[in-house]
Amino acid sequence: MTAPAEFSLQCPLPAAHSAVILMAHGGGGRLTQQLLDRVFYPAFGNPYLQARHDGAALEVGGHRLAFTTDSFVVQPLFFPGGDIGKLAVCGTVNDLAMCGARPRWLSAGFIIEEGLPIETLDRVVTSMKTAAQAAGVIIVTGDTKVVDKGKGDGLFINTAGIGLIETSLRIDPGQVRPGDAIILNGDVGRHGLAVLSLRQGLELETAIESDCAPLIEPVHALLAAGIEVRCLRDLTRGGLASAVNEIATVAGVDIELDEAAIPVNPEVRGASEILGLDPLYIANEGRFVAFVPPGQLAEAVAALRALPGVNRRSASAGSRAGPVGSGYGANWVSCGCWIS
Ligand code: MG
Repeated sequence: MTAPAEFSLQCPLPAAHSAVILMAHGGGGRLTQQLLDRVFYPAFGNPYLQARHDGAALEVGGHRLAFTTDSFVVQPLFFPGGDIGKLAVCGTVNDLAMCGARPRWLSAGFIIEEGLPIETLDRVVTSMKTAAQAAGVIIVTGDTKVVDKGKGDGLFINTAGIGLIETSLRIDPGQVRPGDAIILNGDVGRHGLAVLSLRQGLELETAIESDCAPLIEPVHALLAAGIEVRCLRDLTRGGLASAVNEIATVAGVDIELDEAAIPVNPEVRGASEILGLDPLYIANEGRFVAFVPPGQLAEAVAALRALPGVNRRSASAGSRAGPVGSGYGANWVSCGCWIS
């Protein structure tokens, strides 16, 4: 692979306190958390938000619903393995799945920049239709706005979604307990690098494909197997490391990950090195972690491996949650990892 002539990367260590919004405030890491704590939680704070989960679990007329929303601003709009339309469906569907819900209904809001070819919009919408069919959801309401040329980036999409929670379990970061095992469903970093390598003009021997995919079936395979899932989290912006960091903070536990046991595709590793990035912090769109009771680890991994189309390759991992400051050294609970 060859490096592009010039990079336009941001400083990886942005100012901890800034009076204006920085790109890193949208990166899913420390500054995003600061923004939530300083602006949004004080204004909107309620028990649903304080769960700090991927969506809100609501009780309505004896039913439990999951409700979530997400905005998609990816550039370029089309990339190996997906596009903004597929992303806008899978992203929201996956946040509902992380609540233990079966996604049912989506809304779609389009903010379109003047001058966008209608053919481009057609391709995106067709991709959304295909992704929605694959995920078993329908798009039941929507909105269209057009902004002046130069005031948008071609196309932004917001989707919100509602799903039915079919389990009596409470699945959120607050349920994670010391000793829990963590299961990761595949290699990390592919989505972020598929997009970034295209944006930066990296010439790779093999194009990195986004892992963008719905995660409904793996979640429901765990629930159907009777696994007492404590928490689920899809590893979108901020990647695996930011996700487990946030969960550790909410749950009041320390989490150790055995880096050697986390699969990273060699192309992703190579491109990460060129770009000075850590694959553990790179966005994914078809990867999640499941926190499960240690006694159900083998059963949970078996349920995931039994899914059709799953590559049975497996890696042992040494990842678990422990009490803050427990310093459990080498005494780790083993953790399975299956690769799709
Ligand atoms: Mg999420």
